[in-house]
Amino acid sequence: MTVATTERRFEPLAKLGDTEAFRAEVRAWLAATLPADWLATITGGGEQAYVDFQRWWFRELMKVGLATAHWPKAWGGEELPLEYQVVMNEEFGKVRAPRPLLYTVSLYHLPATLFAHGTPEQRDRFLTGVRERGELWCQGFSEPGAGSDLASLRTRAERKVKPDGSVVYVVNGQKVWSSFGMHADYYMLLARTDPDAPKKQAGISFFLLPMDTPGLIRRPIRQINGDAEFCEVFLDDVEIPAENLIGRENEGWAIAQSTLSAERGLIIVDQAQRMQFVLEGVLADARGGKLAWWRDVDLRRQFLRLYAQAVAVRALVDRMIDEIVHNPHMGTSPTPTLVKLSYSELLRRYTTFTLKRDGLAAQVARPKALGAGKLTENHMDDYLSAYSWTISGGTNEVLKNVLAERVLGLPR
Ligand SMILES: Cc1cc2nc3c(=O)[nH]c(=O)nc-3n(C[C@H](O)[C@H](O)[C@H](O)COP(=O)(O)OP(=O)(O)OC[C@H]3O[C@@H](n4cnc5c(N)ncnc54)[C@H](O)[C@@H]3O)c2cc1C
Repeated sequence: MTVATTERRFEPLAKLGDTEAFRAEVRAWLAATLPADWLATITGGGEQAYVDFQRWWFRELMKVGLATAHWPKAWGGEELPLEYQVVMNEEFGKVRAPRPLLYTVSLYHLPATLFAHGTPEQRDRFLTGVRERGELWCQGFSEPGAGSDLASLRTRAERKVKPDGSVVYVVNGQKVWSSFGMHADYYMLLARTDPDAPKKQAGISFFLLPMDTPGLIRRPIRQINGDAEFCEVFLDDVEIPAENLIGRENEGWAIAQSTLSAERGLIIVDQAQRMQFVLEGVLADARGGKLAWWRDVDLRRQFLRLYAQAVAVRALVDRMIDEIVHNPHMGTSPTPTLVKLSYSELLRRYTTFTLKRDGLAAQVARPKALGAGKLTENHMDDYLSAYSWTISGGTNEVLKNVLAERVLGLPR
């Protein structure tokens, strides 16, 4: 990878107060910092190339304060207003710059949990670890048999006083689908502390623990596209000190909602913006006479239908941004659910279209770059990985049920 060297000092956060100056500084920093060949360098390199690159990228983002800019000032952030976060995403999206995806849980889920429910000591210990040491976190909620119906999870945590007087929770069970769990330093874990609670949601607690705690074993899960982005985790008499319990015992369900709220915000805004940039690029190439397939009336019609849908998704995203600005906690708004449903289904349709459009040549597995996004021109891989968005953050079937019951008032 050819790393650019420049004497110029970049300070995007010093431009707050002027969105266009901020935009220009982010753009200039990206041009000076992100190697033009970054994608080629990690293509075919597998998980290790991806992890090494992401660690480097995280450090570069930290140097100019952009990785944690959305955090509160008290914890080393800049409380970056939403409109600036959107501008930053736009500039990243335009040049297809990578997002620090490996750090998603560290940068979004962990702080969303700790700001709402952590003690000052827990915040200090764990957020400093992310900021200063780039510690990687992953999320251990799902289990075999507890995905959509997460509250039926069975991993058990029992409180125990040790002979030396210290209090620990002893955990036994299994987790699955922990994204990037093979590389993580720490785990956010949901476990059942009261199996006799009257409601299944009531007996769950929320813990934090290092991934190298004795008794914790992780195994990679190989996916259809060859990646092993997830792992399954086996917990066998794993001891977690009581000070690593977040909030109160048996109140983990409500805390988990704060964690999951991180998934409904800017992550999807970024994805939807990127999709629109890609489709606009195709349209510009078509207008410039660069696309042979554009002469095919049927393909042209299919593309333009998808383009119109992308514009509609973007309009929904704009509505969501507006709602977040006026009501940061979003209350009962169905808009994030609508955005997730419409974006994920459009992504599936568009990646199916590109696979068909480019014929047999596109329908083969080619070396890929992990974490490069879902619209990479590697059509087979884009097509396969597009499925993930219809499952993560609540499956589309379950979200449609939620909309039907809570918004349309249809019977259960
Ligand atoms: C990209 C990605 C990243 C993920 N990362 C993590 C992570 O880091 N940590 C973690 O803990 N988990 C993670 N997950 C797991 C994710 O939370 C679960 O896959 C999800 O909750 C669905 O659960 P499941 O896979 O067990 O499917 P199930 O819940 O078993 O569902 C199977 C099928 O049945 C349908 N279904 C289920 N219930 C209903 C219903 N009531 N009505 C209608 N249809 C229904 C579903 O829509 C689905 O089609 C990730 C998943 C993906 C795809």
